[in-house]
Amino acid sequence: MNKVDQLTEWIEQSQRIVFFGGAGTSTESGIPDFRSAQGLYSESGQRGYSPEEMLSHRFFQQETELFYEFYRTRLLHPDAQPNPVHHALAELEQVGKLSAIITQNIDGLHQKAGSQRVLELHGSVHRNYCTTCGQKYSLEDVLAMEGVPRCPHDQGVIRPDVVLYGESLDSDVIGSAVAALGQADLLIIGGTSLTVYPAASFINYFRGNYTVLMNASATAHDRHADLIITEPMGQIMEQIRQHRRKQ
Ligand code: NAD
Repeated sequence: MNKVDQLTEWIEQSQRIVFFGGAGTSTESGIPDFRSAQGLYSESGQRGYSPEEMLSHRFFQQETELFYEFYRTRLLHPDAQPNPVHHALAELEQVGKLSAIITQNIDGLHQKAGSQRVLELHGSVHRNYCTTCGQKYSLEDVLAMEGVPRCPHDQGVIRPDVVLYGESLDSDVIGSAVAALGQADLLIIGGTSLTVYPAASFINYFRGNYTVLMNASATAHDRHADLIITEPMGQIMEQIRQHRRKQ
């Protein structure tokens, strides 16, 4: 049996699929990941800083202007559209097969494709708030301001509701992710190098039947996977959509 047929069969047999994803989920929407050859880590350093440094809590506090320069040009992709991975997962939720998407992404593309139960481990660029008064702002509000966005009420710095390096993950989101994984019957991991912790450790709570790993390059979890697919995941998920439509 080929890999697409195998994955399609397991999807048919499952009722509580959990998708655990990362930046590779959105590369086919034109958003670069961190660790691919075209990823942000391959860019010649930003004034000598690594992306991890520039996206850290310390950098945000101390170099707010540079943080926003990097964040606006590299992490904000307001025109990006969902690709077949996002659409296929939204369809699986609609037909009652998928119980949760757990994502490390901050781009909001799963919701744009129609998914309802999206657990955003690292937050979202779509939610922003004033660090002084807590007033909430949309991505569009931030895009309409230049440089470091400031709250019109009190001039406080507005920050994205994303988890920067050195910050803690939201405990409610962790609890929901662990619970969803503990009840899942099929785990599909996609587009993540599984190197960002603690996020990557949550897949260890999976107790179900099969683990499928869709990733272009090898990961430390490969030896625990029942099926490994290295082809571009958008193409694979499109084939699965077509397959399921014919059934
Ligand atoms: P990563 O860059 O470390 O790893 C991405 C993995 O996806 C790589 O191993 C790569 O080989 C694979 N990949 C890329 N395109 C693929 C495709 N089309 N098909 C199959 N595999 C593909 O990303 P990570 O593990 O998510 O960790 C980086 C951190 O930065 C995370 O917190 C992540 O969410 C964040 N980030 C988010 C975005 C976003 O929201 N779109 C973009 C960049 C980084």
